[in-house]
Formats: sequence, C-alpha cells, structure tokens
Amino acid sequence: MPSSPTVTGRFAPSPSGPLHAGSLIAAIGSYLSARSQGGHWLLRLEDVDGGRVRPGAADTILRQLEALALDWDGPVQTQAARKNIYQDALKALREKGLAYPCACTRQEIRSFGARYPGTCRQGLAAGRQPRSWRLRVPDVLPPWEDRFHGRQDTPAPQGDPVLLRADGYFAYVLACVVDDGVQGVSEVVRGGDLLIITGMQRHLQSALALPHPQYGHLPLLYNADGSKLSKSADSPPWAGDPSQAWEETLRLLGWTTPAGLQGASAVEWRDWALMRMAERQPLYRIAATGPHQQTALSWPS
Ligand SMILES: [Zn+2]
Repeated sequence: MPSSPTVTGRFAPSPSGPLHAGSLIAAIGSYLSARSQGGHWLLRLEDVDGGRVRPGAADTILRQLEALALDWDGPVQTQAARKNIYQDALKALREKGLAYPCACTRQEIRSFGARYPGTCRQGLAAGRQPRSWRLRVPDVLPPWEDRFHGRQDTPAPQGDPVLLRADGYFAYVLACVVDDGVQGVSEVVRGGDLLIITGMQRHLQSALALPHPQYGHLPLLYNADGSKLSKSADSPPWAGDPSQAWEETLRLLGWTTPAGLQGASAVEWRDWALMRMAERQPLYRIAATGPHQQTALSWPS
C-alpha cells in the first residue's frame, strides 16, 4: 500500500444486529473498491442511535469481518463518543439559518405520511415548543453522478430531515455526513437503499463546507417475499461460511466466479477478487441485477 493513499473508503454498519446479506455486499464492495486503488478502508460503527444498539452486536460484526478476511485500517471508530462534534455542526447550521426548530409531535408527524410538509419552516406558532431540529433542504437539489447509476437529481424524498431528534439523539444523516468529513472519506460505496437520500446528504456537506465524497450504490437486495433487505434489525443474520458469502456476493455484483474457487478460504477469495480488479474487472455491473430488480436470496445458515 502506498504511504499516502489518495482514496479512503469506509464501511459503516449499525451495531443493531449481526451483518446480513445486504450489509455483506456493502462490506465486500467498499473493501474491494478502496483496496484495489491502494486506499485505506475504515470501519465505523454507526451507534449514534443508542436506542438501537444491541449488546454484543459490535463484537459479532468485527468477528464476521475477520472471518471474511476484510482487514480495516486504524482503530474502529464509534459515534457515541463524538456528540460534541455533531453539536458544533448543528450550531454552525443554525447560525447560517440552515437548521430550524420543529415543534411537531410524534402523532402529527405520523399524520403527515412519508413526507414532512415543512410545517415549522417559517417559525413556530405562538405557544409551541421546539422538540427537534431539522435541516432546510431546497426543493431542487443539484444533480450528481453516482458511480454505477449515473446522473441523479432526486429531491429530498422525505422533506426536511431531522438533525437532532426529540429524544436527544443526533440523527444518522447528520452523524454520517460529519464523520465522513472528519475522517477524510473520499469514496462511499454502500447499499442501494441510501441512493435516494444522497442528494440531501450532499446538500448537508455543502452547508457544512465539507467536500463531497464520490458515491456508488450497490444492488438492493430483497427477501424471498419481496420485502427490502436493508435493516439489520429485521433481516436474517448471515451465519454461513465465508467462502459461500464471497461467492454469492460477487455473483450479486455481476461477477463470474470460477468453479475452482468453490470452498476456497476467505483470503483466497479476497486476493483473487483484488487480482481481478487489477485486471479491470468492474466492481459492479448494473446489467447483472438491475438497480431495483428484486433479488431473491437464500443464504446458507
Ligand atoms: Zn414541525
């Protein structure tokens, strides 16, 4: 590895449960992308939402990554220790008028449906108390290029997102953007379920004067019943053997894997995949699965 790599990638699972097939794709995909360019690969546990953290899940995730021969650089980062940094970021946004207090109750928010209509954008009505803080997002966001999916110009799908929640936790959206900035992350390769919020995250980066990493979103996986396999809390954990995990993941990314590697060790799979990428194998061929096509999945357990 060069002494000063120009690429820094990361894998940022939430320790709300063990890795599942969807998070394995993000782990292996982000690893191969960064390492094939001689870059750093960081591991960050997205534990900003203390309510979702499950005891023991972080250790399980580290053991799963070790079993897959995915070696990370430096210490494992956590978010729980960084509340001051998020507080400073929120303060900067408030001072620029880019964050505003929201008084809406849980019940009111439920009644809005999927999109927050901007009720508190112009200030709070008399007698209403702020409960959370939201980011002011313009209706039209600048287009950006996804590495695999090309030009994107989706507006913020849920309206102005919450930055600081009513329960006192900072939201994932803020913590993730601040951490990527602080850690010098230059490329984000992650699950396709986050494609839709990336324009809004890029807006947040601009608001905080942080650089934009390059983004690439990997295939969305679905359970056999058609439900989205994106949240570790409601997805079956991966408990299969590392060799099958490598083979299945590369297949989902559109690779042709040689029969001779079946049953090989995780190290052999990893080194073979890196060698193939050095020979210009694309990390992800969209034509293989389609960005939103359903992929029924059956993992060995
Ligand atoms: Zn509101």
